[in-house]
This record gives sequence, C-alpha cells and structure tokens, in this order.
Amino acid sequence: MWKSGSKTSVGERSDIPADGVRFNSGAARLARRDERLQMVNDTIRSRGVDDTRVLGALANVPRHEFVPSHLQSLSYSDQPLPIGEGQTISQPYIVALMTFLADLGTGQRCLEIGTGSGYQTAILAEMGATIFTVEIRPDFARIAHARLMSLGYEPSQIQYRIGDGLLGWPEIAPFDAIIVTAAPERLPSKLLEQLAINGRLVVPVGPPDGVQRLERWIRRSTGNDASAFEFTHVLNVQFVPLQSSM
Ligand code: SAH
Repeated sequence: MWKSGSKTSVGERSDIPADGVRFNSGAARLARRDERLQMVNDTIRSRGVDDTRVLGALANVPRHEFVPSHLQSLSYSDQPLPIGEGQTISQPYIVALMTFLADLGTGQRCLEIGTGSGYQTAILAEMGATIFTVEIRPDFARIAHARLMSLGYEPSQIQYRIGDGLLGWPEIAPFDAIIVTAAPERLPSKLLEQLAINGRLVVPVGPPDGVQRLERWIRRSTGNDASAFEFTHVLNVQFVPLQSSM
C-alpha cells in the first residue's frame, strides 16, 4: 500500500543500496548492523515501505543506542520500547512509515514534535534534511542532544528546543514537513499553519485510550481553511498522548 513505485524490489540484505546512505565510520554506527538489515527486510520492506532512502536510514541508525541498556536485546524487533516516564520509542515500522510520509528531500526543513530518545530525529536527519526538534521534558531533550552529538550528527543538522510542541516553532516556520510523535486529541491547527506550500504534516490524532488515526495533511495553497489541504487517513495507531501547556 505504501510502495513508492519506481524503487528497487524486495531482495536480499545486500540489495540495500549505498546511494543516499551515509555510513559513519564510528563503531557505534556499525555495531549490530546485520540485525538492522534483517529488521529492514523482515519487518519494514516486507510490509510495503520500500523507499530506498528510508530503508537506508533505518539500516544506518543504531536503534540499540536509543533504548535503556536492559532492553537493548529487543532493539531490532518490531515493537515500541519504553524510554522512561511512560514514554516510548515507536516501533521501527511506524518510524519508517512516518518518515516515508514526510517525504523529505535533501536540504528540506523538518519540524519534529517529541524528541524523546532522539531515534526518529536521527532517522529524519539521515534523509539529508535539517531537523528542528521540540521536546517538553528538559531531561529527555538534554540526553537526546548528547546522544545525537556523540553519534556524529552536527549542530547544523539538528536544532533543539525545550517547550510545548503544540505551538510549533513559529519564529522559523514554514516547514517542508512536520512530524508529531505523540498523539494530540485534536488536529493541532498551529502546526498546520506552519506548513510550507506542499508541506506535509504527519500526526497521530485521537484519545489516549481510544482509536487514534495516523493522518497526513499536505498544504496545497495558502490560507488555513480545510480547502487548502489534502488529507489522508493512513491507518490506526497507538501513541502516547501529547501533553500540552495550553
Ligand atoms: N520520537 C521519539 C519518541 C517519542 S515519545 C523517539 O523516537 O524516541 C513522545 C515524546 O513526546 C516524549 O518524549 C514526550 O515527552 C514528548 N512530548 C509530549 N508532549 C509534548 C509536547 N507538547 N511538546 C513536545 N514534546 C512532547
């Protein structure tokens, strides 16, 4: 369903192409790469996300570095994992799908709401975009920042903010893509307003313990009424609730 058409077909591990994938020579980047390649083939490509740039990003980022040490053995199974304070790092398939839906080109600007562990941030940075990531919990933001720096992501690639992501980052809007990694109960209008023309908002929307819908909104014209946007209900999901200071 989410196949992107002209890309390479499903194949063996060695089919993952090197183009679009930046290999960092650091040991952390190379550790457990076979497990990542297996994860990419078995749980992501096989479920229909076959964009080679997205698959390359998932193959390149050491997910085990983003989860608590006692859960590292589960890093490459397709499941969300707790990262503390009731928060979770999303399952790899959902990270891949949201990254695909964000459709980031090199040099584009992406706002991420909910830095968390920094895993989704790293995947977005692997797409060659500049990431602006907002986290409401200062301790999470600090740890993610340190982790991403140690993995080699430059300050020019990722900028960090502590605050309520429901407000977006209006001073530096508009964005080519906005990804929300916790679920608001209602569509956040301030985020829609901060989309560039053809910009994509990827967001899970719904109650904390009910059905949440993963939605994509694409801005097709100026203005903020519904007619300015193209809407897709992608699938139903379960995310931790987005908190709000409003
Ligand atoms: N994408 C993250 C996982 C996010 S879990 C990862 O890959 O690890 C959801 C995150 O959203 C948590 O870190 C939580 O603290 C944060 N969050 C919740 N409400 C928020 C808000 N209003 N603004 C910014 N961050 C928020």
